[in-house]
Amino acid sequence: MFLRLFAPLVALAALALVATPAPAAVPGEDLWSEPLAPFKIADNLYYVGSKELTAFLIVTPKGDILLDGGVPKNGPMVLDNVRALGFDPHDIKILINSHAHFDHAGPFAMLKQATGAQMVISRGDAPVIESGGETDFFFHKRMFPPAKVDRVIDDGDTVSLGGVTLTAHITAGHTKGCTSWTLPVTVDGQAKQALFICSLTLLPGYRLTGDPGYPNLGADFARSIATLRAQRCDLFLASHGGFIDLLKKREAMLAGAKTNPFIDPAGCKAYIDHGEASLHRLEARGGQ
Ligand SMILES: [Zn+2]
Repeated sequence: MFLRLFAPLVALAALALVATPAPAAVPGEDLWSEPLAPFKIADNLYYVGSKELTAFLIVTPKGDILLDGGVPKNGPMVLDNVRALGFDPHDIKILINSHAHFDHAGPFAMLKQATGAQMVISRGDAPVIESGGETDFFFHKRMFPPAKVDRVIDDGDTVSLGGVTLTAHITAGHTKGCTSWTLPVTVDGQAKQALFICSLTLLPGYRLTGDPGYPNLGADFARSIATLRAQRCDLFLASHGGFIDLLKKREAMLAGAKTNPFIDPAGCKAYIDHGEASLHRLEARGGQ
């Protein structure tokens, strides 16, 4: 568990510390863009991401919603996955995001152009998306092609299409507008709720207080823990495959597991507990 949670953190830290990002040297980068055959998670919810960087397609009678796209080069792979499932990328009407980092929002400009989708982004992350990362409080540099935001959302706002509604929960800290989403889904005929957790990673170098670019990071992060604990989390999903044991659950699913392996409230709670523990460790070190 530790290594899987740690890998994306190390990768991001490596990019933050080197003057010129050298993608080949980033741990886990191979997995970030390694294709994974797309599959149905539940009802109208499909997985279309890589082996590590998640992307989810929510299908409705009025068109589809895409949550995240991975690193910039994953864009065509995501669209191939959509097609492989029998859907038309042009039916993607809305593009939403977990957070404005290059490994999740990377191909948004390309995906917008290819699909014509409207892009809906949180108030805290919208400037980062529109600057390709240059206005990020931590990275301060362009790391992906900028993309125009069509609608800015705040905590509790909803995104609806064809009778399907996602609710945005701002769970800031990892980024200023880190957005977790809830979605009612039907699993094996039962009403369940999916929770897509943004990220509870505190990158090496993050400061809980005193960062002029993000002075209230620690308070936001603590509130995000409480926000996530208050959500019903039947289907546990997140921005990195490693956070949710994606590959193991997918294999179990394909092997014919009796109950949907993505139904994992205990794993969800463990992930939030892990995030809270990392906050307490940083607090114990004086918040730096
Ligand atoms: Zn991130």
